Amino acid sequence: MASSRPIPISLSGEIEPPAVRSSWLVRTVRRWFDTGVTVEVDESREDRIDWLRAAPFVAMHLACLGVIWVGVSPIALIVAGSLYIVRMFALTAFYHRYFSHRTFQTSRAVQFAFALIGASCVQRGPLWWAAHHRHHHRVTDTTADPHSPHVHGFLWSHIGWFLTPRNFRTDLSRVPDLAKYPELRWLDRYDIAIPVVLAVVLYALGVLLHHVAPSLGTSGGQMLTWGFFVSTIVLFHATVTINSLAHRFGKRRFDTKDDSRNNVWLALLTFGEGWHNNHHFFPGSSRQGFHWWEVDLTWYGLKLMSALGLVRGLKPVPAWVLTRARS
Ligand SMILES: [Zn+2]
Ligand SMILES: [Zn+2]
Repeated sequence: MASSRPIPISLSGEIEPPAVRSSWLVRTVRRWFDTGVTVEVDESREDRIDWLRAAPFVAMHLACLGVIWVGVSPIALIVAGSLYIVRMFALTAFYHRYFSHRTFQTSRAVQFAFALIGASCVQRGPLWWAAHHRHHHRVTDTTADPHSPHVHGFLWSHIGWFLTPRNFRTDLSRVPDLAKYPELRWLDRYDIAIPVVLAVVLYALGVLLHHVAPSLGTSGGQMLTWGFFVSTIVLFHATVTINSLAHRFGKRRFDTKDDSRNNVWLALLTFGEGWHNNHHFFPGSSRQGFHWWEVDLTWYGLKLMSALGLVRGLKPVPAWVLTRARS
C-alpha cells in the first residue's frame, strides 16, 4: 500500500532520498545552520511558534545580559553604534528599497556587498526578507498579512510571526528576479554564516585591542557583547517597529486601504522608514520622506551613493502623488 507520508522536497525542488532523512529533532537543529533542510510540519502547527528553531533568537536576547560581566568602554559603544548605522542603512536602502521594491539599480558587486551587510543583521537572507515584504504590501492589514498588528496584535506583529514554520520558508515565486543570483541564494540558505563571521571578527578585534591598546579598556567579550549582541538586538527591534508601531501610531496623509502611518520618531530611528503611510501609498519611490522636512537618512545616503556612481536611477516621488494627499 502506498504511504501517505509527504515526500520532503528541498528548497531547490529536489526530492530527498529516504536515506538522508533524519529525525525531526536533528533536522530542526540542522536548520539553524542550513535553512535548506526540510522539516515536515503538521498543518495545525504551521502558525505556531517553533521554539526549538527560535532558540538562537531567544539566546541572542539573553546574551545581551553579558554586559553585566564584560563591562563597557567608549570603543565598544562606538563599534556598536557604527554597526547599527551601517546595518540599518543596508536594511532600509537595500533589503527594503532595492531588493523588495527595486526603486533603483546598482552593479552586481554593490548588490552583493550590501546583501552581505544586510545578512549580518540576523534578519534572514535577502530573498526571505524581500519575499515576505512584497507579500505584506499585497495583503496589508488583511488576515493574509503575516504581521498586521490589527489582525494579530502588537506582540505577534513585532516578534512572533517570523518564528512560525509557515513564515520560516522563502517563497521563491515572489522573488524570481532575485533568485536568479546564486550568491544571493547562498546567503539566503546559509543565513547564519555571515552573522557568525561578524561575531568572530568582533571578538578577535577585542582580544587584539586588549593586547595592543590596553588603555582603550576593551576586550573580546565586550566587543562581542556590545558590537554584536546588543547592536543586533537593538537593530532588530528598531526595524520591526515598522511592522508593529508604524501600522498603529502616527498620521495618515494618504487614504490607503491599510492602516499605515507616518511617524517622525520611527522615521528617525529607522533612517526614514517611519514615513510608512507615504511608502504604502507609493512604494515605487527610492524616497520615503516626501517633503524636505520629512527626514529620510536613507534617501540622503542613496543620493550620496548615486553621486559616487555606486547606484543609479533613483526613483523620485511623482508630482501626482502629492496631489492625492489629504491636506
Ligand atoms: Zn507596512
Ligand atoms: Zn515596503
